[in-house]
Amino acid sequence: MATLPVISPRLFVRSSVLAACAIAALFLLQCSGGGDSPIFVKAPLPYAEDALAPFISADTMGFHYDKHYAGYVDRANDLTKSGSYAGKSAEAVIQMTAGDASKAAVFNNAAQAWNHAFFFQCLKPNGGGAPGGLLAEMIDAAFGSFANFKKVFLTAAKDQFGSGWVWLVLDDGKLMVITGANADTPLAHGQIPLLTVDVWEHAYYLDYQNRRIDFVSTVLDNLVNWDFVALQLENAPPSHT
Ligand code: MN
Repeated sequence: MATLPVISPRLFVRSSVLAACAIAALFLLQCSGGGDSPIFVKAPLPYAEDALAPFISADTMGFHYDKHYAGYVDRANDLTKSGSYAGKSAEAVIQMTAGDASKAAVFNNAAQAWNHAFFFQCLKPNGGGAPGGLLAEMIDAAFGSFANFKKVFLTAAKDQFGSGWVWLVLDDGKLMVITGANADTPLAHGQIPLLTVDVWEHAYYLDYQNRRIDFVSTVLDNLVNWDFVALQLENAPPSHT
């Protein structure tokens, strides 16, 4: 067995709303809360709808951003207009409804709004390939190599039955690949999201039909915005210890 490099541990505060807001503030500015302003804001797409073609067509991105994502944002705002949600952040709404069957509609739409905003930020034209720096070291430490990380990520994508998401997360200072069904999100489990790929069929069916793995593999090879991923790692809340 190869000796793994020693990586400085990056422990973090679990399930803290403050922590989630600190992360979200990096890209969403959704944590202002208060007043009559909607809790969920449709984050601008950080590139043109055709900028990721031919890997993700303008058609796919148009439907995904303008219809699916916009629908989740609108529905999440409708469902959180009043009552106990007043003044809460998007992340707080997700954490206060996670695992509560009676609040499933709120959780599903809130988490889908958050997950999509994060996903779009994880992509960029001329992205993909292997990252560098601390992220590369931590991927090597957790998975043995970048090639093996890809294998693990693709296997997770393949094994996710039905709609969901594949994530690279920071969990107790260690990188992990996890999947979530439907709207599930690492924010509901005290994990720090670093990278995600949407594996709902609407994310790829127009371009790849049933070939989910070709889609995810193409994203890893050509579209991942590793600078964004590295920023999530850099800004992960430090441990109290
Ligand atoms: Mn989607």
